[in-house]
Amino acid sequence: MLNFQDPALKQIHEKIENNERLNLSDGLKLFQTNDLLGLGKLAALVKERLHGPKVYYVFNQHVNYSNICVNRCKFCAFRRPKGHPEAYALNIEEILTKLKQAGNSIREIHVVGGLHPDLPYQYYLDLVRSLKENFPHAHIKAFTCVEIDHLARISGKDVKEVLSELKQAGLSCLPGGGAEIFAERIRQKLCPEKISGQRWLEIMKIAHELGIPSNATMLYGHLETLEERLEHLLALRNLQDQTKGFLCFIPLPFLPQKSYLKEISPTTGFEDLKMIAVSRLMLDNIPHIKAYWIFLGLKLAQVALHFGADDLHGTVYEEKISEFSGQEGEKALSREEIERVIREAGFQPVERDALYRPV
Ligand code: SF4
Repeated sequence: MLNFQDPALKQIHEKIENNERLNLSDGLKLFQTNDLLGLGKLAALVKERLHGPKVYYVFNQHVNYSNICVNRCKFCAFRRPKGHPEAYALNIEEILTKLKQAGNSIREIHVVGGLHPDLPYQYYLDLVRSLKENFPHAHIKAFTCVEIDHLARISGKDVKEVLSELKQAGLSCLPGGGAEIFAERIRQKLCPEKISGQRWLEIMKIAHELGIPSNATMLYGHLETLEERLEHLLALRNLQDQTKGFLCFIPLPFLPQKSYLKEISPTTGFEDLKMIAVSRLMLDNIPHIKAYWIFLGLKLAQVALHFGADDLHGTVYEEKISEFSGQEGEKALSREEIERVIREAGFQPVERDALYRPV
């Protein structure tokens, strides 16, 4: 019998016990509660039902092939204009050399970058093909919907054709970035040049229909309201009902330190844990919820495993986006370290591939 300080949680517990879907008003109650531990218990209950004691991680590497981007999203500390002293674009040989430094037991290569004004479409196809040829045991998880839209524009092809060609070159799945917050009101303020939330969902739908699964993300903790967070989650849940293509949801806290929105206070641990728990409870049809330790910090990500998260992302050899954002702490973990963190939290580590199959 679970006890709750907040009677609203008791009612929601009954709905969960009866497998009733939560609505926006339930979501608001979850966000507004101060009974953090009660909220955690609810999310942990659902996580336990889905995954028992298992917590997943992947032996992976990130490739941020270029930080040059034609967009100017205000929350982005990674992007540099062409010609800036810190701007870079890696050629395929340089990427392969970097990846080989970490050995060849990599299971997943996570590739994202800016919208480069000059890199040709062929570069992206060759990159995916070379990664697959050189790391045949790894899944290539590459390009946000924002990049896919960019590739469609520079190639003159439609999204379906671009995704089909990438799949043929070796693409396994999409990482799910670029979703930010779907609310147009916020996108106009934060990232007016970026594709709309509607377009993001449309591209994901096409990918899923082509048999390319994906993750989904949300950037929270900036200008959005709690309702806008929930509308974002419900839009994902709605698409998932149709396609079943989302593997995992990743709530990403906004890191203001080096962005153009420094006046915004960073999220607190309380808020981050609530976000993980609410995601687990609202997204009843998305199998996995990730505690992305690179943004949350490893210690909070470990605690998040008791708030509904069942995935700790991966070992990560090199990652530039959080580094440019001023996030401090660990930059990479060994298998032993990540497994220790999971075991110490009381769970059973399961090494997985990019599609969440145990390896
Ligand atoms: S978030 Fe992505 S699209 Fe926006 S400026 Fe940064 S790299 Fe470019």
